[in-house]
Amino acid sequence: MILIVDDSPQNIIALKLVLEKNKFAVDTACSGKEALKKILKQSYVLIILDVQMPEMDGFEVAEAISGFAKAKETAIIFLSAASANLNLITRGYSSGGLDYITKPVDMDILLLKVKTFYRIYEQSRALGLMQDTLREEIETRKNAERKKDEFISIASHELKTPMTSVKGYIQLMERSLNKGDIETTKLRLTKVQNQIEKLNHLISDLLDISKIEGGKMRLNMHSFCMKKLLNQVFEVMQPSNPSIEFRFETQFDDLIYGDENRLEQVVINFLTNAIKYAPGETLVLITCAKKDNQFFFSVRDKGIGMSAEDCKKVFDKFYRIEESSERFQGLGIGLYICKEIIERHQGTIGVKSKIGQGSEFYFTIPLTESMPQNPS
Ligand code: ADP
Repeated sequence: MILIVDDSPQNIIALKLVLEKNKFAVDTACSGKEALKKILKQSYVLIILDVQMPEMDGFEVAEAISGFAKAKETAIIFLSAASANLNLITRGYSSGGLDYITKPVDMDILLLKVKTFYRIYEQSRALGLMQDTLREEIETRKNAERKKDEFISIASHELKTPMTSVKGYIQLMERSLNKGDIETTKLRLTKVQNQIEKLNHLISDLLDISKIEGGKMRLNMHSFCMKKLLNQVFEVMQPSNPSIEFRFETQFDDLIYGDENRLEQVVINFLTNAIKYAPGETLVLITCAKKDNQFFFSVRDKGIGMSAEDCKKVFDKFYRIEESSERFQGLGIGLYICKEIIERHQGTIGVKSKIGQGSEFYFTIPLTESMPQNPS
């Protein structure tokens, strides 16, 4: 938008007509004061400013607006008497570009200058946008780098803890073996096995991450019975969580179509989180159902819950809720892997939760056999 500032209405009308004919949007002011008010409210690409005006002349207007944030990139073309001194004109104005035209105005020259300023303005805006995008990109990369560093340090710690336990239990096993105490040796052997299982999970998750990053996670799709899968999961999970009651709200007996192992991984992740993030609680509610030709699965706990903000972020890679990250061990990758798995089944994944009131993690996948999901 161009602002024409002139105390003579005839001049304004003539300039406005020519500029509008050339498809420029035009605003007008008939005094320096009126111009200042307008410039405070709105950004102009260019101001065509009459030098000789009563009360506040063009130079004073230029000087006054040089501090305005809204006029940071605004160019000025002064309309001056032929005798005007250019040094005088440029006095005090340090914002956008400056130029002048002597009166009577040659409209062709004015148009040429207006177009040049517009071009410069467009170019510098494009440059500014490019700079912003670059700055954002640098910031995103720095953040990703920081998260990766954090992850490496957490992952090393998480791997080291079970390793240290294994080492300790093996030393203890040696002692009990030397004493011929087979019962204690067996107990310690179970502990070693548990820790090895933990290590195995951690390493599988780490491998999954690199498979996802490399676009190499493949699905092995076939029809299978979800009820059977769940029974197998509970057979393994119940003995190691004897105080937990896994209660079905609804059952689903039909076959579903998907990658059985990968969906089992999602189910186990939901269930382990439901136990882990609900200390002291004993009930975990499971729903399996058909909803709008989709298979719906959810796990509900009565645990610590989370804010609406965190509900959106928990599926992000490496995301762990800060307030609870000290209290619970984890890598912040389980749900990210679940999201990848479900999305490759063309399904949806989500969570409903409130702080202190528990969470419900759910996923849906189409019940009909759909297109292959493996990346080519
Ligand atoms: P991890 O548990 O290893 O940190 P996940 O990817 O499984 O990684 O979970 C990401 C984060 O989501 C967890 O760190 C935790 O803050 C939050 N979270 C997951 N499940 C629950 C739940 N049932 N209740 C409350 N918070 C949860």
